[in-house]
Amino acid sequence: MGGDLDAGWVATIRRRLLAWFATEKRDLPWRADRDPYRILVSEMMLVQTTVAAVVPFFERFVGVFPDFEALAGAEEERVVKAWEGLGYYRRARQLHAAAKAVVAEHGGRMPEDPAAVLALPGVGRYMAGAILSQAFDRPEPILEANSQRVLARLLAWTEDLATTSSKKRLWDAAARLVPPEQAGDFNQAMMELGALICSPRSPRCLFCPVAAECEARRLGIQDQIPRTRPKPAPTAVLEACVVAVREGRVLMVRRSGPGLWAGFWEFPTIHREGGDPAARSFGDPVDLADGVERLTGVRVEVAGQVQSITYGVTRYRVRLDAYAATVGGGRGRRKPLPGKGLSEAAWVDPASFGELTLAAAGRRLVAAIIDEPEAWGLARP
Ligand code: SF4
Repeated sequence: MGGDLDAGWVATIRRRLLAWFATEKRDLPWRADRDPYRILVSEMMLVQTTVAAVVPFFERFVGVFPDFEALAGAEEERVVKAWEGLGYYRRARQLHAAAKAVVAEHGGRMPEDPAAVLALPGVGRYMAGAILSQAFDRPEPILEANSQRVLARLLAWTEDLATTSSKKRLWDAAARLVPPEQAGDFNQAMMELGALICSPRSPRCLFCPVAAECEARRLGIQDQIPRTRPKPAPTAVLEACVVAVREGRVLMVRRSGPGLWAGFWEFPTIHREGGDPAARSFGDPVDLADGVERLTGVRVEVAGQVQSITYGVTRYRVRLDAYAATVGGGRGRRKPLPGKGLSEAAWVDPASFGELTLAAAGRRLVAAIIDEPEAWGLARP
């Protein structure tokens, strides 16, 4: 394998990347200081999400919860609400749990011991390295999607990056490359280079500060790296929900925990076909009105389909058909509904939709209802 990690090569990469980062780095809110709390929040948010998408959520979140104490003392529902729109709500719960652990076990200060950082909920090897290097300048390596791609190209590493041997090789290389000083800047420079220059497709090698040190470029194989297995096609799911109206209010249910959507409100929804990401299936095919009655105790008259929303969640591709409905009788229950993970059914004034914690599909439906209330049997406010 080319691109061997000799001392001169390592020193040149460090020097060039740090010089490039000093002038080219993006001005990001969690880079303004070395506050480990802000770094942890940003890293939790950046899992599966781009920097550009995270920035406004980050500002909002740290505005509501400015430090470990504030976050640790908050109700989970408030934390999830402040996270709303980012998706991956498990990360919000892990962040909350991590803040509680920092307060309970470390007096409200992020520990500097790698084992203690790694022991925090939701913190894996990458995130521990990011916190320790960025907040405390400890020479801990990191490896995430961007820096992994950069490293694989610098080394002309052509194996599938998902293999154990690839991970070991690249973690070892990252550990060898991270400098004893300015470790935080160096790690961020690797990620920044991957984000801005060494992009997944068509890396802009002409603008790359380490192009002369890059083995993949020397061999002309940068477009073939990283080699990854194609992702399996998502599992198709068909669900249906009702927007059932009674006296200007809309029937909604709240899911209980544990699970991805614990604490979230949604329009009563049944599973129809395909995978079942949210455990909504009754086991047998069920008519929409019957399903809603079993979920909520309310008998609805289903009118026409008004909207169809498609969204992705984990490995599923879901189509949610939304129907307008009126109500024949019954009332929303206020006791747990066995088997479907619901804790509450309630009639909600559309003016209060903004106070509920909703997943992406729910928010899109709410937007459609507010946009065109008549289509759902509601009066325009
Ligand atoms: S030279 Fe090209 S492939 Fe190599 S690290 Fe730079 S941008 Fe990536």
